[in-house]
Amino acid sequence: MKIALFSAKGYDKDYFDRINKNYHLSITYFETGLNKDTSNLTLGFDGVCVFVNDNLDKETIEKIAANGIKVIALRCAGFNNVDIAAAQANNIKVVRVPAYSPEAVAEHAVALILTLNRKTHKAYNRVRESNFSLEKLTGFNLHNKTVGVIGTGIIGKAFCNIMLGFGCHVVAYDVYASDELKHKGVQYVSLDELLKQSDIISLHCPLTPETKHIINESAFTKMKNGVMLINTGRGALVNTQDAIKALKDQKLGYLGIDVYEQETNIFFRDLSEEIMQDEIFARLMTFPNVLVTAHQAFFTGEALEQIATITLQNLSDFENGETLVNEVKG
Ligand code: NAD
Repeated sequence: MKIALFSAKGYDKDYFDRINKNYHLSITYFETGLNKDTSNLTLGFDGVCVFVNDNLDKETIEKIAANGIKVIALRCAGFNNVDIAAAQANNIKVVRVPAYSPEAVAEHAVALILTLNRKTHKAYNRVRESNFSLEKLTGFNLHNKTVGVIGTGIIGKAFCNIMLGFGCHVVAYDVYASDELKHKGVQYVSLDELLKQSDIISLHCPLTPETKHIINESAFTKMKNGVMLINTGRGALVNTQDAIKALKDQKLGYLGIDVYEQETNIFFRDLSEEIMQDEIFARLMTFPNVLVTAHQAFFTGEALEQIATITLQNLSDFENGETLVNEVKG
């Protein structure tokens, strides 16, 4: 089976080539993302392998279907960038990697919290310049603080476990409560109650029409003054303009994001010699209490290994007519 792998980076090639020795698929790597303008590259392939910022809207799907694509393999968990109904209508199967290393993402959320709180990024630079002053580096104890977790699926669960270990009081909001977490002391509350009680809020729900801008102006008004917001979910969970207003009003005391609503044109590339065209992102970068990482929460060796293995297994199952255990259905 011939696979076109889009948005390919060196690390994708390293892991896929090594693990593909067990699967023997024919993989062609394209640095470009897949969208309606690049869909002609899929001609002659049986399947595509895509990542978080490839845009498989209805138009792209119709074009790749016409080129003979029969399977879309997402090498990620979220599938908000694929029009699932359009894929089904065009007889294209969609598979994903539902769980590769939930700890990787959960631990990165904790890294954002600790960095913003204890300002180790600033301390690192100061000490390198022989500035050993502690002025403005004051943090706060995590112990006894209330952490609100929105979405307690596999990543949210791993995150709750870590925060319980810090001695935090963990409150959660999810459409389904986890008995396992309840037994460990996590308290499920309404969204409003979570926003009201939390010192730190971390987002771990998928991006859906219901969760788009779940954190907006109205949500910020319900939060404590000086609250910390962490988003390792998807950018559009947060209305960035409203977050900027909350930062200016000092309602939002800290913002740590690994994802950004308009990240497609920014993340996963070196723009160090270019002019930043995104005014909202440029404004975000001016705040001393904002920390941005470029969608790297998943990025551990363990996760890359799992992503390549599960994706190749998904494609191999498709080729062999096996049950698709990781199929995404509408
Ligand atoms: P999951 O499906 O295991 O868990 C999602 C949880 O969100 C579920 O418990 C679900 O019930 C809950 N949920 C759904 N709709 C909700 C709503 N309206 N309100 C509250 N809760 C709701 O998914 P997961 O593997 O834990 O991943 C969560 C998200 O993290 C993914 O959808 C993806 O967008 C994001 N993610 C980011 C990275 C990264 O590198 N930054 C990596 C992997 C996943």
